[in-house]
Amino acid sequence: MSKSNIEWTEVTWNPTTGCDKVSAGCKICYAEVLTKRLKAMGQPKYQNGFKITLHEEELKRPYGWNKPCMVFVNSMSDLFHKDVPLEFIQKVFKTMNETPHITYQVLTKRAERVAELSKFLTWSDNIWMGVSVEDERVMDRIDHLKMTNAKIKFLSLEPLIGPLPNLNLDGIHWVICGGESGHGRRPIDPEWAREIRDNCLASNVSFFMKQMDKKIPIPDDLFIRQYPTIINNQLKSQKLTNMKATTKNLAKQEIVATLSPFKKEIGEALINGENPETLAIRLAEKRAMPVPTAQAYITMVRKLFDKLETEPTKIEQKEMPIQELVTSNAVKKESDVQHIIIDAQEGVATTIKFEITINLKNK
Ligand code: SF4
Repeated sequence: MSKSNIEWTEVTWNPTTGCDKVSAGCKICYAEVLTKRLKAMGQPKYQNGFKITLHEEELKRPYGWNKPCMVFVNSMSDLFHKDVPLEFIQKVFKTMNETPHITYQVLTKRAERVAELSKFLTWSDNIWMGVSVEDERVMDRIDHLKMTNAKIKFLSLEPLIGPLPNLNLDGIHWVICGGESGHGRRPIDPEWAREIRDNCLASNVSFFMKQMDKKIPIPDDLFIRQYPTIINNQLKSQKLTNMKATTKNLAKQEIVATLSPFKKEIGEALINGENPETLAIRLAEKRAMPVPTAQAYITMVRKLFDKLETEPTKIEQKEMPIQELVTSNAVKKESDVQHIIIDAQEGVATTIKFEITINLKNK
């Protein structure tokens, strides 16, 4: 299990590694770049480079994870690549079926193969199946996803490199949207994301805006981070810690809005997940200043964020319909919310009890 910086998950698990490019969305493949780096660092798991490699030893790993969490399956590969045999995919599914307290988020660009193999797989409630769609040319992946027996189906519209005006969300539970990052990135038009957000709203589908391009902050009206609203048995008593991160980010944004332009730039980069060390190097180059000076400014901003952890707080119990709770607007209304814990009730709940931690200093 590796902790993940990916906003919509918590950790990653890679029972296979390696892949090859299938469409325009693969142009700047993060997995390929990282694989080269890990191979050069001598990591045994990556010595085959970007060639599909099966890791039998990984299949046992989730049995040792006791706490519920969200796991992105194969951030460094594609489970449904033609070189991954059905028998191995079935072994991965067996592990997922036998660890129902863990939510698995499986994402592929090989949607046709998922549809083809669906009947040979056991789709327990804890498996969320998603396809990546970067532009209109690969919309057929959504039709193939709809043919599968997955209980929760999602779309990752990232990197979004074109508009999707004909997106049909029937049968889809969750949409993640995001722009491209990395050298040579193709910019996302915020209007494409707004159109998708509005489509989700009209279709009662959860929407999660992941990023613009890691450097440009997400516009306020797009900063919505919802999760699938189907609360099934595997979500019982599960703490959705990413909601906590979302509410903290809202509080951090309020702090950033009051800062000078330079500190504002630092704050926004930190909120968008940029590593403080690489940020210091980037800013030092950009502003022609020594790296330690940039580091000192970064420390100042991080101290302001750290205060969010230490302010005196009290906990209040609340109850509201799930639909309201999962929208970030519901959370935003509570401008002083620091912390949110969701406890799903037995079965399919229509209301949900939760706790908020209120910053007493601001009261
Ligand atoms: S399918 Fe995913 S992992 Fe494979 S090359 Fe494309 S972007 Fe990379």
